[in-house]
Amino acid sequence: MVLFGGAPGDRVRFSIAHELGHLVLHQSLHGTSMEHEANLFAQELLLPEAAMRREMAGGITLASLATIKQRWGVSMAALAMRATELNLISKRQLSYLMAKLNSHGWRTQEPVEIIMEKPRGLRKMIEVLYGEQIDYHRLGNDLRMPPHFVKRLVESHATKAEFNVATVAGGTKRERGRTLTFGRVPTAEKNSADEADITSAHPS
Ligand SMILES: [Zn+2]
Repeated sequence: MVLFGGAPGDRVRFSIAHELGHLVLHQSLHGTSMEHEANLFAQELLLPEAAMRREMAGGITLASLATIKQRWGVSMAALAMRATELNLISKRQLSYLMAKLNSHGWRTQEPVEIIMEKPRGLRKMIEVLYGEQIDYHRLGNDLRMPPHFVKRLVESHATKAEFNVATVAGGTKRERGRTLTFGRVPTAEKNSADEADITSAHPS
């Protein structure tokens, strides 16, 4: 699975889970329902039903979606789709939420930045052999690859310190594992018309 950089971390997480769904579920390259199945796989992997029902029990608003996004590292749009899939909101309410996201320009750039996660394994192996201060010239020599290339490859993997901090930018730093807890979400503040509870409101 090859991914190109540039997309927000939350989108990348979903894309990886979607592609993983194809790998797990689909042997052939054809089929009409395959995209939907891969999306369902990604949804259940990243946003398990039981936990989502708990998280969304307090109502679904832009504010609550932003809070849940911060905890689960998945875009507000994908969370709204998940809520629809679980029949927590109707298709009409989904369109209303999407229009709201759109009117804020959030369909292209959502609030709550999710930092791109970096895998650790490969760098850890290299550190065992070369030490934490990696000599890229020596590594490049050993691998018969240019030092700048191996440096880029290694740096796309997390250091020990990077691996231990949260995936949420701008917020309080939290330990990995505590970021993605299955606990209760605090009730989102409802302080503007945009954040009205659409599960009880009637959009025109
Ligand atoms: Zn696909």
